[in-house]
Amino acid sequence: MDKSRFYRSIPKVDILLEDDRIQEAIARFDRDTVMDAVREQTEFVREQIRTLDEENTLCILVDGLIPEIIRRVEKMHTPDMRPVINATGTVLHTNLGRAPISREHMARLAEVACGYSNLEYDLEAGRRGERYSHFEKLLCRITGAEAAMAVNNNASAVMLILSSMAKGGEVVVSRGELVEIGGKFRIPDVMEQSGAKLVEVGTTNKTHYSDYADAVTEETKAFLKVHTSNYRIVGFTESVGIDKLIPLGQEYDLPIIEDLGSGVLIDLSKYGLTYEPTVQDSIRKGADVVCFSGDKLLGGPQAGIIVGKKKYIDKMKRNQLTRALRIDKFTATALELVLQEYLSEENAVKKIPVLRMITRSREDVEKAAARFRRMLVRAGIKAEISLQPCESQIGGGSLPLERIPSMAVCIRPTEMTVPELETAMRHLEIPVIPRTFNDMIVMDVRTIDEDRMKIVTEELKEIL
Ligand SMILES: *Cc1c(COP(=O)(O)O)cnc(C)c1O
Repeated sequence: MDKSRFYRSIPKVDILLEDDRIQEAIARFDRDTVMDAVREQTEFVREQIRTLDEENTLCILVDGLIPEIIRRVEKMHTPDMRPVINATGTVLHTNLGRAPISREHMARLAEVACGYSNLEYDLEAGRRGERYSHFEKLLCRITGAEAAMAVNNNASAVMLILSSMAKGGEVVVSRGELVEIGGKFRIPDVMEQSGAKLVEVGTTNKTHYSDYADAVTEETKAFLKVHTSNYRIVGFTESVGIDKLIPLGQEYDLPIIEDLGSGVLIDLSKYGLTYEPTVQDSIRKGADVVCFSGDKLLGGPQAGIIVGKKKYIDKMKRNQLTRALRIDKFTATALELVLQEYLSEENAVKKIPVLRMITRSREDVEKAAARFRRMLVRAGIKAEISLQPCESQIGGGSLPLERIPSMAVCIRPTEMTVPELETAMRHLEIPVIPRTFNDMIVMDVRTIDEDRMKIVTEELKEIL
């Protein structure tokens, strides 16, 4: 194939720059971005000519040169982070941003973050304050702890705790609790980074009180309990609860640290879910320090919340590592707002999106699904639309075995394939992420807000 004619058909840069469409892009955006796009796209097309042997594809590439340049420029000026509609039914979807924040809280957050704030300013005293002060009292009141603080996420909370309480010493952990928390982050590796030496005791399925007791040496600085939040060991098992470890800690004057993973602050069994140990339980039983995520079951911003005895929390606040892990004004504001909702449990369940979604009754989801289906039918989309019972998951490494009965709106397109529809849904202005099952698009209604159902209907009308 004679490729030179393709090379020749790529206009020179100065000719391209004279094109009206390019001129318009320069006026609308800026010259530098357009120049970069011209360079990148012409290089890309040259590379394709060099490597490809399909005449058709090359013709399309050469003909589409200018529109592609414009698309590159537009893409550069369009935010890539965008809202998506979570139709997977997984409430805490790590890839989709875990816990959503309520609109009401966001409005308040915007007010605080758009200007200056009292982040580290004590308005009573008129001098420097502490960024944890806005939510420390709330956390103490809700959990019963003496003191509290927060860092960027729970992984950093674990690191800070160990660095402050056990650096250079040993920390005893059960082999049944050496959790990988996702994204290849493992508790043993996080511990190693903190400068504490991990001493594993027991076996995968059984750890006894005596295993902990026998592991104590001169070098022991603490006992660590890690809640196996994202998996369960079932069958022939034994573990030592925090209440049993307390006397041992007292005997050797060693603190008990507990990483709870999800920060559950209410008894979920009241809402038909499996009981998850609450932060209050751990504190009541006598844990010295407890840490948990802000954006798992707690339903707030990404954060690692640490509560416990004041002498340990004070030490952490003074640790140099805290400066590297400190939360910003967005997190401090959002944490205070979400924790305030917990002053009344009834309120928390109604107002915190994560709790609202997981406690939403089956009847409520069924009614919403029926409405959603009617909207889609009325829109006249070219597909079979049905309602099917399904099961929602909590996700985010919380309550791994829990399945919440839910209802899905299922779509079987009549004029395209399911993979084609799924791809089209991902490329919408507000992308929709569904599950696919049995050659159908399955949209679990539990995680779709009422106002989002309208958007999905409008959007699907466009593709189908
Ligand atoms: C999720 C989890 C973490 C990590 O929390 P992030 O907030 O995601 O950093 C640590 N420990 C346990 C037990 C967890 O479940």
